[in-house]
Amino acid sequence: MVESGGNAFPWHLGVFDAHCHPTDTLANLQSIPTMRANVLTVMATRAEDQELVAHAADEYGLTQAHVRNTVMDWSKKHRMVPAFGWHPWFSHQMFDEAEYDGASSLAPEQKVAHYQSVLAPKSEDRDFLLSLPDPRPFGHFLDQTRDYLTRYPLALIGEVGLDRSFRIPEAWLPEHTDHRDESITPGGREGRKLSPYRVSIDHQRKVLTAQLRLAGEMQRAVSVHGVAAHGVVYETLAATWKGHERRVPSKRERRKAEATGNANAEPSETDNEGPKSVEPKSYPPRVCLHSYSGPAETVKQYIAASVPCEVFFSFSTTINAWSETGDGKVEAALRMVPDDRVLVESDLHTAGDRMDQYLEEGVRKICEVKGWELEEGVRRLGRNWKRFVFGKG
Ligand SMILES: [Zn+2]
Repeated sequence: MVESGGNAFPWHLGVFDAHCHPTDTLANLQSIPTMRANVLTVMATRAEDQELVAHAADEYGLTQAHVRNTVMDWSKKHRMVPAFGWHPWFSHQMFDEAEYDGASSLAPEQKVAHYQSVLAPKSEDRDFLLSLPDPRPFGHFLDQTRDYLTRYPLALIGEVGLDRSFRIPEAWLPEHTDHRDESITPGGREGRKLSPYRVSIDHQRKVLTAQLRLAGEMQRAVSVHGVAAHGVVYETLAATWKGHERRVPSKRERRKAEATGNANAEPSETDNEGPKSVEPKSYPPRVCLHSYSGPAETVKQYIAASVPCEVFFSFSTTINAWSETGDGKVEAALRMVPDDRVLVESDLHTAGDRMDQYLEEGVRKICEVKGWELEEGVRRLGRNWKRFVFGKG
């Protein structure tokens, strides 16, 4: 038996980042093959990064051939799984072409009207509204995403979600564009002041729902962002599986089945070891609520036996607010999450040592709260990640 050196971190068992953004710092992508983490799940968020994530997948992506093998056989170079999606922080940059006679772009007056309808409070500042990015037709984006998912059979949908707390940034001023950091992928906030405007939750929901439906259609897992909107994230997800809830046997039925030795007679879908089903459904097969900050009560709703979607919860040390005393809201939520539904993530914008370091911290934190031995925890988190991404294992 190999002696486990006290506090040494068992990278060799395989560590998987469930949610990160390395394409935000392109120059550091090249450090992916030398990272200690095994595989990164790389999110796209906005117009500027979808193709960057695709390029990264061409260079470093796992292929289906790798998945048939074990972790140890995976090549050093193939270290990421791509995810394509539109983040709520950019949801205002999308318009529903059905509301504009199928238009593929908006005239200035329509652009003002669009932003007035999706931003709250309603802005009368035409110059500000016209300075925002030209909105894109949402249907085109969904078609583009469908193409990416076809091109990358292991790809997920993400990052998508709802956020009630963010405000959109002020437009770029010329004196700032001259000094922007060229090493950062454009489209993010980059220290700009925030405007007073938020994106209406109805508009965010529309953008989220369409992407959840696409995940159902293509049977791909989804990485979901939820901030200050845990109830409405649940409602939006639950609406996609309404009418498809799993039938939960009554106590009497269970007793009867046990008495006749038929307790497991009816195989559930998740127990099916056969080829992965690609039959389209209205709801995603698997969801990860990333950097989960909701209450433990909401965890309970997601793990109810009637929920037909496998919901995972990932935790980070970058976003999650862990308490000093170990008895805060995040800890309570994590304790409520079943052992086979926990994931770890860095949510970091740059690949390399720092990402490894945050993953190690995240794993240690999760193990501490869950009371898992480190090696047991790393193995468990690895199994959970494979289950989340590939739907098996
Ligand atoms: Zn993220």
